[in-house]
Amino acid sequence: MQACRFFMEYMRVTQGYGRYENGNTDYTSYSHTGSYALDMGGRDTAKDWAYAPCDVVVKRVYGEYNAVWFETLEEVLCADGKKRKLVFMMLHIDNEDKQALGIQPGKVFRFGERFYREGSAGEVGNHIHMEVGLAPFTGTGWQKTTVKDRTGNYVWKINNQLKPDEIFIVGKDVIIMNDGGYDWYVEDKRDDKISLLQKENDLLKRQLNEYEQLIVRIEAILDTL
Ligand SMILES: [Zn+2]
Repeated sequence: MQACRFFMEYMRVTQGYGRYENGNTDYTSYSHTGSYALDMGGRDTAKDWAYAPCDVVVKRVYGEYNAVWFETLEEVLCADGKKRKLVFMMLHIDNEDKQALGIQPGKVFRFGERFYREGSAGEVGNHIHMEVGLAPFTGTGWQKTTVKDRTGNYVWKINNQLKPDEIFIVGKDVIIMNDGGYDWYVEDKRDDKISLLQKENDLLKRQLNEYEQLIVRIEAILDTL
């Protein structure tokens, strides 16, 4: 089974979720109000590539923002340990990159292939707006919410939305510039934490053992008094 891996070489969150930790809507959000959407800026203001997090197929391409919905071919292992089929929605790739990648419904991208790119479609600075949902892809892939963002527009969000930090496993080769403050599963960091805890646990066990031996000796001395 494939895992769902973070899809850029640099992680730089330039706009985070429009919901608080407890799920409540964050009305101070710029344009993600009520949504678990992320804007990814890549290394700098240029256009970084995005690489398929697993095997995916294009389900829909839409609008001036060049929104593209990708569905995973199979269930994938997510950062929270659950296995799911997923839908990814990404916005803002430029027309020439969309054409160069051959993005159209039915096009399959294999894990690790270039499948999207930062862009400015829809008159924005170069970035990728990204959302994750639970498969299957249904209807138009998204829905209009009843919440307006600070630009005065109703927020749209992907169907059956999930939190990206619970989905993407971040490889040790990803350079993290801004993680948005979320609890990403970072492969090696997590492994290091586990091995540190293991070492501390072993040390405590040894100390406990020494104390137990000490108590036995003290009890033996007390017996002779
Ligand atoms: Zn966005």
